[in-house]
Amino acid sequence: MAAVLSSLLLKASRSPLSRRAVTAIPVTRKVVDRFVAGEHEDAAVAAVRALKAQGLYATLDHLGEDTTDAAQAAAIRDSYVRLLGRLAAEGLADHAEVSVKLSALGQGLPGGGEQLALENSRAVCAAAAAAGSTVTLDMEDHTTIDSTLRVLKVLREDYPWLGAVLQSMLHRTEQDCRDLAYPGSRIRLVKGAYAEPATVAHQDKAEVDAAYERCLEILMAGGGYPMVATHDSRMIRAARAAAGAHGRVAGDHEFQMLYGIRQDEQLKAARAGTRMRVYVPFGTDWYGYFMRRLAERPANVGFFLRALVGR
Ligand SMILES: Cc1cc2nc3c(=O)[nH]c(=O)nc-3n(C[C@H](O)[C@H](O)[C@H](O)COP(=O)(O)OP(=O)(O)OC[C@H]3O[C@@H](n4cnc5c(N)ncnc54)[C@H](O)[C@@H]3O)c2cc1C
Repeated sequence: MAAVLSSLLLKASRSPLSRRAVTAIPVTRKVVDRFVAGEHEDAAVAAVRALKAQGLYATLDHLGEDTTDAAQAAAIRDSYVRLLGRLAAEGLADHAEVSVKLSALGQGLPGGGEQLALENSRAVCAAAAAAGSTVTLDMEDHTTIDSTLRVLKVLREDYPWLGAVLQSMLHRTEQDCRDLAYPGSRIRLVKGAYAEPATVAHQDKAEVDAAYERCLEILMAGGGYPMVATHDSRMIRAARAAAGAHGRVAGDHEFQMLYGIRQDEQLKAARAGTRMRVYVPFGTDWYGYFMRRLAERPANVGFFLRALVGR
């Protein structure tokens, strides 16, 4: 039942009709606020400040994906550049980086989308370098992975700290982990948030989890900087065990969770001396992000429905 609901929600996350319906309901906003820091840069900066005060790190995501023209991609690029300048000016750049979706920077546009996304993300990397911060390229559905890894390779020549994301649900990912576990390589490991066909991805949660543990082992054994992004206590325990087995210490890897999810665990980890980074989305284009969060946890759908009927 939960799997059917999850798959329906993931389909709806790509449907313009559903987008119009869900975003038109006024009460949706209240539920969205649980997962999204706010609509504007000010809210994002305030969230980082509050996290820093609690010993937490942040990675900021200006919401937006599947950009439809070059002007929109440029506007998102400029907003990241502005945001990075602001983080530096407010003394927050040591605690915050940015997460960027290449589709928001034009990757999917016909006739040179990848090149456009490369140029736009290069400008974001330059701004991060000037601010004393870093960037991670989010990973989207499997059709975009080769392109994203090509962009990563080119940009790492100038910005070796540029991070990437690998998704354990995909059959290809163990090999990608092996290829990317080299010294200095910042890799965020996630389970994967997109509906993917059986030809490319594990369909069974137990298989996705087992693959996550195998990927953890590869990344922790390698020379890179693993970023363990999960709310799953079992995966967190496995990550700690693998880190210990490979002689890793605090500071050569980190844990990450999403804004608004398991905040108690985020704080507990920070207090115990673990580097914990919170992924903080902000902006008006929250629909796709919000629907993926609902798909991950049917209990959130219940929360949404209760808000709808006004209880
Ligand atoms: C920092 C970060 C960045 C990400 N970036 C990407 C990306 O670039 N590309 C991508 O495809 N995906 C990304 N994701 C999403 C990821 O792929 C998963 O969809 C998402 O993290 C859910 O998987 P999970 O590992 O938390 O485990 P799940 O299997 O979803 O959850 C496991 C367990 O975690 C606990 N849990 C989960 N949610 C809650 C909650 N709300 N409250 C209490 N307990 C909860 C429960 O015990 C649950 O059983 C990112 C996730 C994080 C944390």
